[in-house]
Amino acid sequence: MANHIMGRPSGPEAKPYHSNGHQSGPVPTPFGDKVSDYYACNVFNLKTMKTLLPKETFRHVEDAILSGTQLSPEAANSVASAMKTWAMSKGATHYTHWFQPMTGLTAERHDSFIDLTSDGGVLESFTGKQLAQAEPDASSFPSGGLRTTFEARGYTAWDPTSPAFIMESLGGPTLCIPTVFVSYNGQSLDKKTPLLRSIEALNLAALDILAYFKLPARRVSSNMGAEQEYFLVDRSYYDRRPDLLMAGRTLLGAAPPKGQQLEDHYFGSIKERVFCFMTDAERELYKLGVPVKTRHNEVAPNQFEVAPIHEEANVAVDHNQLVMDVFDRVARRHGLAALFYEKPFAGINGSGKHVNWSLGTDAGVNLLAPGETPDENLRFLVFLVCAVKAVHDHGKLLRASVASSGNDHRLGANEAPPAIMSVFLGEYLAKVLADLERGAPTKETDKEWLDLGIDKIPPVLKDNTDRNRTSPFAFTGNKFEFRAVGSSFNCAFPLTVVNAIVAGSLRQMKRDIDERLKARKPFKVAVLEVLKRYVKESKKVCYEGNNYSGEWEKEAAKRGLPNLKTTPEALEGLVTRESVSLLESLKILGRDEVHSRYHILLERYSKDLDIEARLLIDLVDTQVLPAAFSYQKGLAEAIRGLKDILPKHSALRSQESVLDEVAAGIGALREGVARLAKAMADAEREAEPLKKALLYCHQVKPKFALVRRSADALEAIVPDNLWPMPKYHEMLFLI
Ligand code: ADP
Ligand code: MG
Repeated sequence: MANHIMGRPSGPEAKPYHSNGHQSGPVPTPFGDKVSDYYACNVFNLKTMKTLLPKETFRHVEDAILSGTQLSPEAANSVASAMKTWAMSKGATHYTHWFQPMTGLTAERHDSFIDLTSDGGVLESFTGKQLAQAEPDASSFPSGGLRTTFEARGYTAWDPTSPAFIMESLGGPTLCIPTVFVSYNGQSLDKKTPLLRSIEALNLAALDILAYFKLPARRVSSNMGAEQEYFLVDRSYYDRRPDLLMAGRTLLGAAPPKGQQLEDHYFGSIKERVFCFMTDAERELYKLGVPVKTRHNEVAPNQFEVAPIHEEANVAVDHNQLVMDVFDRVARRHGLAALFYEKPFAGINGSGKHVNWSLGTDAGVNLLAPGETPDENLRFLVFLVCAVKAVHDHGKLLRASVASSGNDHRLGANEAPPAIMSVFLGEYLAKVLADLERGAPTKETDKEWLDLGIDKIPPVLKDNTDRNRTSPFAFTGNKFEFRAVGSSFNCAFPLTVVNAIVAGSLRQMKRDIDERLKARKPFKVAVLEVLKRYVKESKKVCYEGNNYSGEWEKEAAKRGLPNLKTTPEALEGLVTRESVSLLESLKILGRDEVHSRYHILLERYSKDLDIEARLLIDLVDTQVLPAAFSYQKGLAEAIRGLKDILPKHSALRSQESVLDEVAAGIGALREGVARLAKAMADAEREAEPLKKALLYCHQVKPKFALVRRSADALEAIVPDNLWPMPKYHEMLFLI
């Protein structure tokens, strides 16, 4: 659906309109609609179902959704029928199984509700079977070798834990049913299946720990709130930048005199045209039940952020995909382009996604929040320390989960968390853990346990003065903030990995506590012993200082922490023995599934760079060189003219030097392109995927800078009226 312009079949009035050039358009929706009046009006959630299903069926469905059990065929039929009636009442004629294949985007194939009748007419129908499963002809999605051509079938299966919704487009509304995408043998071919499995693994591991603490809970869920950064660029500029259009980033472009050095954009007043876009997009998201809450200007010019209220991880991932999808479409409506790429402009801050993550029980207890009593604080420390241990034990896997060609421009580029995975805890907790390590009780009395000061952890640890914005994995009071995720990412895989590594630590914790309980140690002593050991073993991953500094890079190397700066190197973290065995033992991904993902991501990296290389050569040949040649020609003619008329003029030399500069620039550019083309040809010839990716990384990519330097130098001297592409100052400052 990504290319449609959205319409307005239901909810508040929202007329599509285009704004030309720099005009800010009218606010398309009349003010005065209360959000609570139309929030989630296009969502088939439990609230909607309650009004449409018979009481008995509703209870069954609700129970199945909350406990994750299978729905009976009768109930599925009942839900399907209610869903169809509801969707048709909103004007939908088609439904689609909405899924998230390994491309990182969402995918859909629309099917009409119609069925033929014996008298030559049609009627609308939708059965439980059609709701539950479909077989899209989806053989072209990347499978990393999991599907051979003779068994290319992929199946989508309904995921009732994320509610169906109506997506409105100018072409009409469509019923979208969130599904998982698996092969004939049940192997995952998408981003959602492993996420759902990781949610379950974490649930089971956490419930086991909670049983010690006698905290009543039926379910523990992981929760996510993703702060999303993005740029907005006027569409007329975007359309004339083939690099932005096809690679998502500018491959060329001289730095403007003013970038972000004044830091006057951050939290500044929002420009009217941008504001119109934001309110329009938010309205569409509210209709879809996406609880967006915060909007503001970011550090770079024309960079912004949107953040939602956190939700259960599975739904939150779908909602983040919807945020990107809706922003993309509403931006078109406003004559703008929304950029989610990690680093669209060189020399200007890139965009990330801060994935806020926590664990909560169905009774609403946040397990990463300190409590009121010593017992609650001990429980809090168990979960906290397990998260630290998780990053320590599986730092490479965590790093692999955020690897992409786009994110390579951010991680380690002095503006985003570095490629070194570490944890920030804040001064108070760092001290608590240090005390814990030093002072675990030797005498097994309750008194001594309290002497550790565990009972004194303040219930509110949120303190804005104690903030470290440079850490890739920072504790922020009652949640962790995983900041290394790229802005264009589907959050599912990074979240899958966070869930997995923490579930792994919790399971180990249970084994270690049980062992001590068997040896008849009192419970609290057993827990403290294990905590002490974990803190000791994991502390090298804790860092409270400035993660952007060179000092930390050196210190981390001394501590033996990996610093994997490029995607081909980072991705290996996915297929290490430890990673595969963790994912396999938690039943999140089997060995073949992990390897298939590794190959898909590696191949994707090579393809990304191949596209960029081709684009760059194309831009130089068809835009930069013709402009430079025109300028050269004009200069040559002007100088010849001067020579003809005033052959001895003293300015001749200096004018010739301008011509010389242009001619030399053209020469250097041609030379750079030749070297790039050669490196590209070498990489293309290589068949082994890792070697190929490494060639792109270490041979092709460095030539980009070479070409760019020459092209940008020409941009700085060729007259504006001859330069064919929009410049940085236009894209970054004009809206
Ligand atoms: P801060 O400014 O301290 O980072 P905010 O309250 O502004 O915190 O939240 C930032 C993001 O973190 C929001 O998207 C929010 O939904 C999310 N968030 C807040 N609490 C939690 C939590 N317990 N679990 C997961 N995400 C959370
Ligand atoms: Mg934050």
